[in-house]
Amino acid sequence: MRLYPALVLGALVLPLAAFANDPHSYAQPDQVVVTHLDLDLKVDFPHKQLDGRATLTLDWKNPQATTLVLDTRDLKIASVEAVDAGGGTHALKYALAPADKELGSKLTIQAPRRPHEVRIAYATSPDASGLQWLPPAQTADKKAPFMFSQSESIHARSWVPLQDSPAIRFTYDAHVTAPKDIRVVMSALNDAKHPLDGDFRFDQPHPIPSYLLAIAAGDIAVRETGPRSAVYAEPSVVDKAAREFADTEKMIETAESLYGPYRWGRYDLLVLPPSFPYGGMENPDMTFATPTIIVGDKSLVSVISHELAHSWSGNLVTSAAWRDIWLNEGFTTYVQGRITEALYGKRQADEETLLAIRALQKGIGTMPANSQRLAPEPRGVGADDSLSSVAYDKGSWFLRTLEQRFGRKDFDAYLKGYFDHFAWHSITTEQMLAYLRANLIDKYPGKMGWDEVKDWVYGTGIPKDAPIPDSPQFDAIDKERAAFLAGTLPAAKLDAKGWNTQEWMYFLDRLPDVPKLARMQQLDAAWHLTGTRNAEIGMRWYVHAIAAGDKAAWPAAAEHMSRIGRLYLTLPVYGAFAKTPDGLAYAEQVYARAKDGYHPLTRQAVERLFARAKAKQDRIAE
Ligand SMILES: [Zn+2]
Repeated sequence: MRLYPALVLGALVLPLAAFANDPHSYAQPDQVVVTHLDLDLKVDFPHKQLDGRATLTLDWKNPQATTLVLDTRDLKIASVEAVDAGGGTHALKYALAPADKELGSKLTIQAPRRPHEVRIAYATSPDASGLQWLPPAQTADKKAPFMFSQSESIHARSWVPLQDSPAIRFTYDAHVTAPKDIRVVMSALNDAKHPLDGDFRFDQPHPIPSYLLAIAAGDIAVRETGPRSAVYAEPSVVDKAAREFADTEKMIETAESLYGPYRWGRYDLLVLPPSFPYGGMENPDMTFATPTIIVGDKSLVSVISHELAHSWSGNLVTSAAWRDIWLNEGFTTYVQGRITEALYGKRQADEETLLAIRALQKGIGTMPANSQRLAPEPRGVGADDSLSSVAYDKGSWFLRTLEQRFGRKDFDAYLKGYFDHFAWHSITTEQMLAYLRANLIDKYPGKMGWDEVKDWVYGTGIPKDAPIPDSPQFDAIDKERAAFLAGTLPAAKLDAKGWNTQEWMYFLDRLPDVPKLARMQQLDAAWHLTGTRNAEIGMRWYVHAIAAGDKAAWPAAAEHMSRIGRLYLTLPVYGAFAKTPDGLAYAEQVYARAKDGYHPLTRQAVERLFARAKAKQDRIAE
């Protein structure tokens, strides 16, 4: 199969052809490209909407073009006008197409005189897929409402009309008004000392792709954690968060020593309410993070290493389409491991790697062949679906393989050169491969064949000789688990007192899919897993306890599911319940109570899971 064949030429500048290949955007960047966005928005909590204006600066690529096509989803468009150089405006004709379920509504603007700027007045829908509006009851402090965005993958279009493709980069500035005492933050330079006067201005001077547009507003306090970093969170959370993330400056310095200067100015962190559907989101200058990583012992801060690593892989060098997303996530997971190793030691880094490897080995064989590829054939893969463990864990495994073959010194120099070479560009897998061939594979012959590279990138499954790190700790846990399951080692005699979070995760991950009930009860009696506040451990425990039929764990599992909206930690527990009719009925009750606190993405995922489970049970009943 030929994929993007014209691009395997190793072009050094962003080729226009890269633009035309994003099946998840209506934009026509070979005609006209947005180079700057100016936002003027009001945060309207009572109506759950942002309303105002977006002014797009345009670079017309085709001198004959007469239309500007934008991506939108559920936006109410009030007017579209052209802005001339003197600031004068005149109305433009436009048409909003009926909504496509995945892509939203194409907005076609007639612009026969190819204006320098186009201004769109609009408001978002209360159900915007990229925004979540939380009433005070669903925040930690229960005092003020909260709103936040999650634009990746193709949800920026639900709060700004734009060319919503990662191939297109633009700078932005914004003026945002909000009620007094509410703090607004964005994926731009934020001022920790800004008065809470309801009037905020932001500037992002670097060109970013649309999925990195971000905004949040709420009762948000700030603590400095270093010369260029601060933690933003609700007042009751901010001190705990600042302690957990006290190593942020050290993380930045570690990444800089490997891959060159941090180029974004500040690196601030916003801790969101627990409904945030992901672990973290690498919004430039202001990472958004889940509170589930605040466990008191820094054992889960690798999420922050990951989001920081995106400042190089993803935000600086960006995948040009969702099909290429492993260039963001695989590279970032690799860099994350290097930061973890430098700061917290090889033991923890290897343990995190092994956890991911074992999960991938278990899951990859059950995926459709195209989803097992780092660079899948682009059609038919949803933009959100492309963010799978293959992109993250097979991608980083490939980079660890390269590191092992070429040696750390040469590979580090190569990777630093790659980030410099493609800085501020969006690139395809094939551009990355052309650079890899010239600057690593052919430069040091005899270390890795080109066929092996192609097998990693375009092949299914995991290549046979993929390197796996040693972990004496995990080997010892394998032995203990086996003895415990065989009944020769009582639960209370497990050598688990000193286990860190990763070691508990590993012990639980490799229990049988349906363990014996008596064994799970013994384990819980000895180690009190039911009710744990560590959600990584809790998710794994509840999945196995429910599968074993341990109804005593159900109420605590329900509490976990209601408290946490992070997809990765809550969906598997729903999945465990959905395997039996009783469990499914219980999970549906839990969901009915919890869903108002969930992000639209989490609601969608749980409802899809219920539908599949019901279809399956109906088939069994027939
Ligand atoms: Zn990531």
